[in-house]
Amino acid sequence: MASHGNSKASPAIGIDLGTTYSCVAVWHNNRVEIIANSQGNRTTPSCVAFTENERLVGDAAKNQTDMNPTNTVYAVKRLIGKRFSETCVQNDIKQWPFKVVAGPNDRPKIVVKYQGEDKLFYAEEISSMILVKMKEVAEAYLDCAVKKAVITVPAYFNDSQRRFTKDAGAIAGLNVMRIMDEPTAAAVAYGFDKIGENTNGKNVLIFDLGGGTFDVALLSITYGKFEVKATAGDTHLGGEDFDDRLVDHCVKEFKRKYNKDITGNVRALRRLRTACEGAKRTLSFSAQTMIEVDYLYDGIDFSTRISQARFEELNLDLFSRCTDLVDKCLRDAKTEKRMVDVVVLIGGSTRIPKVQQLLQDFFGGKELCNAINPDEAVAYGASVQAAKLNGQGSKEVQDLDLVDVTPLSLGVAIRGGKLLVVVPRNTPIPTKKKHVLTTSVDYQTSAYLAIYEGERAETKHNNLLGEFVLDNIDSALKYVPQIDVCFEIDANGILNVSAQDRSSGNNNKIMINNEGGRLSIEEIEKMMQDAEKYKADDEEYRKRYDAWNSLDRYSYQMRNMLRDTKIAAMLPFSTKINIEDAIGKSINWVEQNPLPQVWESESKMNELKSICKPTEK
Ligand code: ADP
Ligand code: MG
Repeated sequence: MASHGNSKASPAIGIDLGTTYSCVAVWHNNRVEIIANSQGNRTTPSCVAFTENERLVGDAAKNQTDMNPTNTVYAVKRLIGKRFSETCVQNDIKQWPFKVVAGPNDRPKIVVKYQGEDKLFYAEEISSMILVKMKEVAEAYLDCAVKKAVITVPAYFNDSQRRFTKDAGAIAGLNVMRIMDEPTAAAVAYGFDKIGENTNGKNVLIFDLGGGTFDVALLSITYGKFEVKATAGDTHLGGEDFDDRLVDHCVKEFKRKYNKDITGNVRALRRLRTACEGAKRTLSFSAQTMIEVDYLYDGIDFSTRISQARFEELNLDLFSRCTDLVDKCLRDAKTEKRMVDVVVLIGGSTRIPKVQQLLQDFFGGKELCNAINPDEAVAYGASVQAAKLNGQGSKEVQDLDLVDVTPLSLGVAIRGGKLLVVVPRNTPIPTKKKHVLTTSVDYQTSAYLAIYEGERAETKHNNLLGEFVLDNIDSALKYVPQIDVCFEIDANGILNVSAQDRSSGNNNKIMINNEGGRLSIEEIEKMMQDAEKYKADDEEYRKRYDAWNSLDRYSYQMRNMLRDTKIAAMLPFSTKINIEDAIGKSINWVEQNPLPQVWESESKMNELKSICKPTEK
């Protein structure tokens, strides 16, 4: 992992690691700069693809999705920190063309074919590949190594999802300075240039509807202080769900028109989905559009007209769910609608007019803030936080004070399977909370502690984070022992729990480890090495391809030259025959050896060059 060097010398970047798109920004030249990738795009698809020869990340991966759906991996943010058997994971898997299986400790593993072999990856490994890509985008722009980053996550992410995101950063060779909530980052983007203005106690509602997740947060901004008052959201609500509805609609239409069911054909579905996403985007700006896919299924060209109204109707329940969650967030914050000063829209799906209209209606016709770029705001805020933590930037940056809250209540199981809440939801972090427990049986000397997160009264409906046993409690009648249980949450939202028997002084402590599923230092090291290996493989492939490609080009170049009668006339007949023969052989060889070793191509090249020399001159 990176060491803490001279902060001035080594930059720290902000990465919005999105479900569908990622974005990177840096504090540079005394302001935030959003960095474009080598394709010139300011956001990069969170997509990794594996082929016979190479691994692709970002735009290159997304662009070949339709040709290679089963080995093109996306939306892994929906898997990170989750268990394979969870219902939501099972439902996602059914939708995806790539394969996911249960790994050790019920952890999902993604299966792809790479270089002719089946390879298995954890979600955090795929995420790390995307992070490496974003890191490289920044390095190319800054022209120096980047080792430090702030990475954002939805406010709704639980302990395990945050931890694994942090691990993804470590695997990518980044020192993750902070895991930051996306709405906080967006609020910084909105409010950063207004620090110093009269922002005394301004309530800002961040409405983030992206590709995979919906997040809403209410923050108060007072000069440089950004305080999250409450958050709500749904890790399964976003643009992809709207795409699903459109795909469903088309599948039914196809069935009606041609009496054929295309749902079994992964490639057809994938191509249809790409067309539907495009149509959806168009419908944000026009009243109707066409969804068209040539040769969709059984040689049939599919084409249908869809109107904005129909699209809205297909998704109305999902759109309404967003405003319901806004309502929930405000109730949690005990803030009335009219007390909200600004509603900031972020996430690509907030471009949908109906979403904006429902939200505006909810706030009684209030103007919504469109001033910040919905695709870049999160990375913007993350880069400001990164600069602050890195000791860079202006006084405004250094004066920033960002206060996040816990997204879920945290507690311990007590008698009768009840959850005793120790840290209530929306508690500002970092925090440390204690609770005194006791024994429930006479002369009990050990206690089992199970730690949960969630809002339900019974633990069985909540999410188990970890468990441990406290031994050597001084033997006493029940209710006599006093056991201090301490929950400590750091600035990343990551939890540690300890317990101590007051009388014996014995204590025990756990870093929450999602049912033994957490990565050990060794595993992270191993994954970092693997990541290096994949990177080396990619480079090796490119070198081999380049050597092969230059031989191919050279051969044809020589052949064309020889076809030029003026040049040919200058050569003795035998030399010409000789060269023609060599070129023919070389072209043959190139065709028959699609991916030779570098040295093979090079030696063929040298051979050919030595024969062709007279022509070159
Ligand atoms: P995330 O943060 O979840 O990765 P983004 O905020 O980048 O997602 O938003 C991506 C989503 O926004 C995609 O589902 C995309 O289809 C959708 N989107 C982008 N532009 C538009 C548009 N003009 N109209 C509707 N949806 C859009
Ligand atoms: Mg986002």
